[in-house]
Amino acid sequence: MRVYERSHQVGRRFNDDFQGLENWSTRGDCLDELRAHGVEPTWWSVPFSQSELRLSALRAAVVRSPRPLFYALRRGAAHPGSLDNALLRQARAAGVEICLGQRAEPSAVQIFAGGPSGRPVALARGLSFALDRPEFSATILCDHLAPRGYIYFLVAEGQATLGTVQVGDLRGSTQRLQAAVDAVERRWEFRVPATAAAWAGHAGFAIPRHCMRGRTLVVGEAAGFQDALFGFGIRTAMLSGALAAISLSGGQDYESAWRSRLLPYMRASRLNRAVYERAGAAKSLLWHLLKSSPDARPVLRRLYAHSPIHQMLSPFVRAGLGA
Ligand SMILES: Cc1cc2nc3c(=O)[nH]c(=O)nc-3n(C[C@H](O)[C@H](O)[C@H](O)COP(=O)(O)OP(=O)(O)OC[C@H]3O[C@@H](n4cnc5c(N)ncnc54)[C@H](O)[C@@H]3O)c2cc1C
Repeated sequence: MRVYERSHQVGRRFNDDFQGLENWSTRGDCLDELRAHGVEPTWWSVPFSQSELRLSALRAAVVRSPRPLFYALRRGAAHPGSLDNALLRQARAAGVEICLGQRAEPSAVQIFAGGPSGRPVALARGLSFALDRPEFSATILCDHLAPRGYIYFLVAEGQATLGTVQVGDLRGSTQRLQAAVDAVERRWEFRVPATAAAWAGHAGFAIPRHCMRGRTLVVGEAAGFQDALFGFGIRTAMLSGALAAISLSGGQDYESAWRSRLLPYMRASRLNRAVYERAGAAKSLLWHLLKSSPDARPVLRRLYAHSPIHQMLSPFVRAGLGA
């Protein structure tokens, strides 16, 4: 088997930033699901069982669970333990030939995993830097600072990531990032060093109609697999890749496999976003629900299940979404 990567290194889209592998959308642990598909979590990872959720300077809640809510991972080529480098090593150890610096023609490969395609609807910008603080995670939901998006701040093992995600109107991101830096510096009383590494990336959220293009199986963000509410796309990228590989080796047909495993999640996340943007009280409601629960995982899991409530809301938001 051969894998083509157009860059000379894997993970060039990222710059040693922390990203979260979500662990709430299924009852079982995401790492067990990945293991069951033959992917070993050999990458650097820190489990987070709690995270601060802020609506404003005054309204902060601790969201917690007895089990990890998410795993912080490193992305990019720089760190040997990044998700990208760990997967590269695993593939090589399994005998895969990796052709770095070689672009593949999407229609000529069996599986295409080329990352974002289509119109960008979200923009993430941020900074990675050294910070001598205990492990910590916080998310700020504030339209004034990050319109229709959020700010996130993660600290682990002496390293921090501060990011801002804006959705829809992608203008003014430099000012938005500066405002996020100011807010985080003020709240947690430190200064982001001038040496911080900057990064940026776009995303587009779309529910695919089909993931077969000719004979090519399209996976990950190239297929549109990503949480439309908050932009989590790592788990769906790895899972869809595994489902495509299983299909090629004679297992369940890819179209029916992604429809059964990923479509309900995608539909729910898309409706979540519509409600989040349109209903003024949605952020507050989410905040209260998560704040008052001793275990946020089931709350979030219900949010990402295509439940009867989602089905009921669906006709009301579908027109506006073009879903
Ligand atoms: C700044 C930022 C922060 C994020 N944070 C999170 C987070 O916290 N949690 C989360 O779950 N998700 C997060 N995401 C989304 C997540 O990173 C992506 O959804 C995920 O990486 C998608 O994986 P992928 O393999 O589909 O695509 P990518 O990771 O984009 O990989 C695609 C690869 O294909 C290569 N390629 C493209 N075309 C070709 C070609 N024709 N031939 C050869 N190679 C090609 C590219 O060079 C690239 O290396 C974030 C995204 C961004 C931009």
